[in-house]
Amino acid sequence: MSMFCFQCQEAAKGTGCTVKGVCGKTDDVANLQDLLVYVLKGISFYSTKAREKGIEDAEVNLFILEGLFTTITNANFDRKAIIEKIRKGLEIRTKIATTLCNEGCDCDKTTLPDVAIWTASTDEEFEIKALTVGVLTTENEDIRSLRELLIYGMKGMAAYAEHAYNLGFEDAAVNAFLQRGLVSTLNNNLGADELVALVLECGQYGVQVMALLDKANTTSYGNPEITKVNLGVGTNPGILISGHDLKDMEELLEQTQGTGVDVYTHSEMLPAHYYPKFKQYSHFVGNYGSSWWHQREDFQSFNGPVLFTTNCIVPPLASATYTDRIYTTGAAGLTGAKHIPARENGGKKDFSAIIAHAKQTAVPTEIETGEIIGGFAHNQVLALADKVVEAVKSGAIRKFFVMAGCDGRMKDRNYYTEFAEKLPKDTVILTAGCAKYRYNKLPLGDINGIPRVLDAGQCNDSYSLAVIALKLKEVFELNDINDLPIAYNIAWYEQKAVIVLLALLYLGVKKIHLGPTLPAFLSPNVAKVLVENFGIAGITSVDEDMKIFLEN
Ligand code: SF4
Ligand code: SF4
Repeated sequence: MSMFCFQCQEAAKGTGCTVKGVCGKTDDVANLQDLLVYVLKGISFYSTKAREKGIEDAEVNLFILEGLFTTITNANFDRKAIIEKIRKGLEIRTKIATTLCNEGCDCDKTTLPDVAIWTASTDEEFEIKALTVGVLTTENEDIRSLRELLIYGMKGMAAYAEHAYNLGFEDAAVNAFLQRGLVSTLNNNLGADELVALVLECGQYGVQVMALLDKANTTSYGNPEITKVNLGVGTNPGILISGHDLKDMEELLEQTQGTGVDVYTHSEMLPAHYYPKFKQYSHFVGNYGSSWWHQREDFQSFNGPVLFTTNCIVPPLASATYTDRIYTTGAAGLTGAKHIPARENGGKKDFSAIIAHAKQTAVPTEIETGEIIGGFAHNQVLALADKVVEAVKSGAIRKFFVMAGCDGRMKDRNYYTEFAEKLPKDTVILTAGCAKYRYNKLPLGDINGIPRVLDAGQCNDSYSLAVIALKLKEVFELNDINDLPIAYNIAWYEQKAVIVLLALLYLGVKKIHLGPTLPAFLSPNVAKVLVENFGIAGITSVDEDMKIFLEN
């Protein structure tokens, strides 16, 4: 075994990747990402103590967000970038430790844990250290499972918090929880009960951070509104933007305006089209291709450069001819791709290189035509509340199915397409995230003008689905959110889906079905806790599950 990672749904053999990631992560990058998380724990060791003394360090807070985000599945495959972050992290750890010491800390310098004092400087030393700090260093499988569940939830939280930060929105309590949570995973005195409590607390902060991001997005760009998004292509060369970061979207649109270069979204950036502020740009042409794992074909035929603002990246094959057209920015990274640096001193990112590149490329090859409809975030759905409530009361809508989450390349995800197709015509799908690509181009029709697939947006916008559920609970005067005619059949892939799940659990949602497989990082005992307390279940066959959902 040269690495061990089991943080996503595609973990090899349903247990963990041990030689190379199914995602394409090499063993050295996987191990260095483990070390980066270890560095974040070391920084948090000091910053948590510093916070108790009233010291808040903005650089620490941002570094923790970016560091956790960098280690999310499919975000960063660039060994050099991870090493730079480890080096920077050690500097930041020294800085916050010194600040704390100068304030008169009460640490016993003779008993400081390894995470607070280890040091190294060469790449080779980092590689050796990395082999000693991975997931498997926690021997008890239940404790390991809970620690990792907490860390993966916090990775998702960090991603959402970083997007909000980019728009000028921060929540000190979220930063404090992330750092406290990281330190907690080092504490051998915390048993399963305490860790379960922390995991549930993580869900609480998950709701808080999603609300923050929702506020950041809607304050900056307006409330998403019903929108038909073009699937065809225009006549200019284009830039394809993927990932989730709306600040990057805004600056790319500004800087491409009037240049003769069009902008298209790919995969999770599709919901950018729903925002009023972005609709003003006539060169924001449409959405190209499908969900993240179709990149290799989609990027080939797009012809122009591609900008990754976040995950999910599929590393190109060695034979790919589009690799030199890939640009990354923010937490995203890929060896061989050009990285667009962060904003400096409140300035903007400089997208001139990718724009110049686009001008030299051919117009995208059209691979489909038509439109898809979306923009059903909470504000828009609540504007239609009377219509929706009437449809439920009259029986025109029998049930809502939350089918949010992620898409993935495994064949068993065809389940979700088949499930959507077989749903009775008096049911409506509520979705967010790239799971929608399994059914958003199917002719599923509408119910009294309400489309049968209501797309709230990115996985980040799953918060909208919770707001809608809570509003319906209020309208129907119910005491329990589980009494609503809503079933949850969620597809997960990476760690943002983990925080969405924990947030739903915090809101009291029960009987969530999670697929296509349950997480490899849940030990049998931890899975049992989730089943017994929350009624979480996996998926079986479409017909069997449909029966269960419709009978309950
Ligand atoms: S992120 Fe997923 S696919 Fe990649 S190494 Fe980890 S478990 Fe394997
Ligand atoms: S929903 Fe999940 S899998 Fe899909 S692009 Fe977003 S992060 Fe990746």
